[in-house]
Amino acid sequence: MERRSFVKHAGVAGILAAGTAPAVHAQQSIRWRITSSFPKSLDTLYGAAEVFAKQVTAASGGRLTVTAHPPGELVPAFGVVDAVQKGTVEGGHTAPYYFFGKDETFALDCAVPFGMNSRQMTAWMYHGNGLKLTRDFYRQYDIVNFPCGNTGVQMGGWYRKEIKSVEDLKGLKFRVGGFAGRVLERLGVVPQNIPGGEIYPALEKGTIDAAEWVGPYDDLKLGFYKVAKNYYYPGFWEGGPQLSIYLNAKTWEALPADLKAIVEAAASHAHVDMQARYDALNPQALRKLIAEGTRVAALPRDVLQASFKAAHEVYAEVSAKNQNWNKMWADYSRFRGEQYQWFNYAERSYDNFMFSQKL
Ligand code: CA
Repeated sequence: MERRSFVKHAGVAGILAAGTAPAVHAQQSIRWRITSSFPKSLDTLYGAAEVFAKQVTAASGGRLTVTAHPPGELVPAFGVVDAVQKGTVEGGHTAPYYFFGKDETFALDCAVPFGMNSRQMTAWMYHGNGLKLTRDFYRQYDIVNFPCGNTGVQMGGWYRKEIKSVEDLKGLKFRVGGFAGRVLERLGVVPQNIPGGEIYPALEKGTIDAAEWVGPYDDLKLGFYKVAKNYYYPGFWEGGPQLSIYLNAKTWEALPADLKAIVEAAASHAHVDMQARYDALNPQALRKLIAEGTRVAALPRDVLQASFKAAHEVYAEVSAKNQNWNKMWADYSRFRGEQYQWFNYAERSYDNFMFSQKL
């Protein structure tokens, strides 16, 4: 009885408090929609947009309510840049290299063949010049970017036929993400830029000969092992592909400082969370793929060597033509060089020893 009476009184007090607190009412909730380039079934990639959305909504106590949306619900998979630029949606989550057709420089905010690995990329973004340079670049698209996820080194994809040497790439119709196609076409590959949700039917029908997506966890879900038996590594075109949250610049600038801090922290959280998720989930998925009869093999050395040479020829050509690229690549490639010089000491020797042990 006493308790009920207390609750009743608290209720009345609450109503009175709300009635005498106009500041609470004046503060309207802001609503953002984040359009993703990835199908909802991929809880790693699409999941990062959801992690970001939930974190911002919870940390702001609902003052900034963010929702994630799969491709097609608001915007097509490859429509993210246009939609965010125009303000059709407040934000997007994507792999920037999808947009290299607008400007090759997009790829440097994601992955280029023989680029930096996940840790090095994050170092460049957070404590090198990466964030500053990419933000300068995105200004022309009215976009403000935040690193939001990395897959780690990807696998080299699924092939109907074995790849025994660089000769086997000639005429190969290969679904490959982003800018890598520019490099691989020099070796005779016919690159196909197909969104994640449409790869399986193309590989099943034989419209394409091979396809890469990410790595064991996602690839198992997408079922490629059912239609192509040869699974190669490494995906040298994606040594540490970084995903990004894009926000419309005006939307971002209109935000008060405390909500800006919440958005930044949520993006960093989702960024770390995705890599952790992939690292935790890939081992079991690879075991399952092998149990299903997948043939896992390293790409021949001559494929990597020829691709490395072709990649750096492409970079020199793009540098000569594209000022945006030239400026960013100069810094990116310098940072990459320094990182590999350092990783060659402690990281490499530790890993080499550990790989040689029975764990
Ligand atoms: Ca990929």
